[in-house]
Amino acid sequence: MDGFYDDMEVRSTLQRETDNNLRLSAMVDAACRRSVQVREMLAGLKLKPSDIASVGDLEKLPVISREEVVELQRQEPPFGGLCAADVDSARIFTSPGPVYEPHLGENELWARGYFAAGFRKGDRVLNTFSYHMVAAGLTFHEGLRSVGATVIPSGTSGTETQVQLIRDLGVTGYTGTPSFLIAIIRKAEEMGHDFKRDFRIRRASFVAEPLQPSLRKSFEEEYGIDTYQMYGATEVGDIAYECSEKGGWHVCEDVIVEIVDPSTGRCVEPGQLGEVVVTRLNDLFFLLRFGTGDLSSMIQDDCPCGRTARRLSGIAGRVGDAVKVRGMFIAPSQVARVREAFPRVTFQVVVTRESYRDILTVVVVDDEEYSAVGAEHFGDLFSGVCSVRIDRIETVKGGLYEEGKPLVDRRGWD
Ligand SMILES: [Zn+2]
Repeated sequence: MDGFYDDMEVRSTLQRETDNNLRLSAMVDAACRRSVQVREMLAGLKLKPSDIASVGDLEKLPVISREEVVELQRQEPPFGGLCAADVDSARIFTSPGPVYEPHLGENELWARGYFAAGFRKGDRVLNTFSYHMVAAGLTFHEGLRSVGATVIPSGTSGTETQVQLIRDLGVTGYTGTPSFLIAIIRKAEEMGHDFKRDFRIRRASFVAEPLQPSLRKSFEEEYGIDTYQMYGATEVGDIAYECSEKGGWHVCEDVIVEIVDPSTGRCVEPGQLGEVVVTRLNDLFFLLRFGTGDLSSMIQDDCPCGRTARRLSGIAGRVGDAVKVRGMFIAPSQVARVREAFPRVTFQVVVTRESYRDILTVVVVDDEEYSAVGAEHFGDLFSGVCSVRIDRIETVKGGLYEEGKPLVDRRGWD
């Protein structure tokens, strides 16, 4: 499974930066000619196209959410002025909202992700994403074709049909959600098959749903399926993908990803948690700075696989579920990681404000389990996972606030 899909994956950081700046400038120029929305936005901000000449200049523009795209398109159907009204695209997709998007056919959506997951010519891959209306089925299909695989467009057919296809066609790979693959495996077992022994599926690429570590372990160890994750959004296509190191997701070569503080629209410090904001470099659909609502951080270290693109650390949760403490996000998933480390300790994170300063308190039930762990060890691990320092650890004998919610925000805003 060595090698790379193409040279773009191993560009130097400087080369990628230079390329992205040039491509962004070209995109903004094209947007000013073809997108009423971008033209009016820049005029409103008193910016010329040349003011957006580098990735760093993107901070001058607002982040646009899915809800805002829906509203723009509702006001000015079908595309909300985000592309030319007479756009020449092979297909127009729609997704719930509704959001209308022209298909961005020129670039190789998802291909590098499938390549990194080891899909090649000779593979027969079950594509269980819908081919109806939405972009998923057809764009994943094309990605698989780009790496030479044969695709079985099984779409949303029932699990029994999927099992039949896997058996009859000697399917070697799967793409879809993890929950659907486990449902297919359960059905196969119900039908009397031994999934690992009877079938040839050895590789799966998941997208559109988080892959729980326990389920991953089960796929890999019990069923002999090597698993990979890809990450994308219907509005912008693929955003990042996992390589064989499985330690973070490489940012795709055709997108610019910023990790942004949603309250200011500015990028957070390297390594910190923030909203994933995406700009897909293309010349059809001019969605600049799309806010996914997902929380992640950028891993600073190089990846041993040799790909030079930075990696996202996975998705820590949704922006709305996180709590911001002294400018840093804490997501419920981070608290869950602390809980995994200390499964017997009962605790809750409470944020309050004293003299205009955010105070982070961890309320811990004072019992034998907690005594065994010790306050110092607990505090160190917590700060390591959440990258925010604990102000105090408060021990209680009885119950926690608000029925044991992992994260409680008790700050008033008056
Ligand atoms: Zn890698």
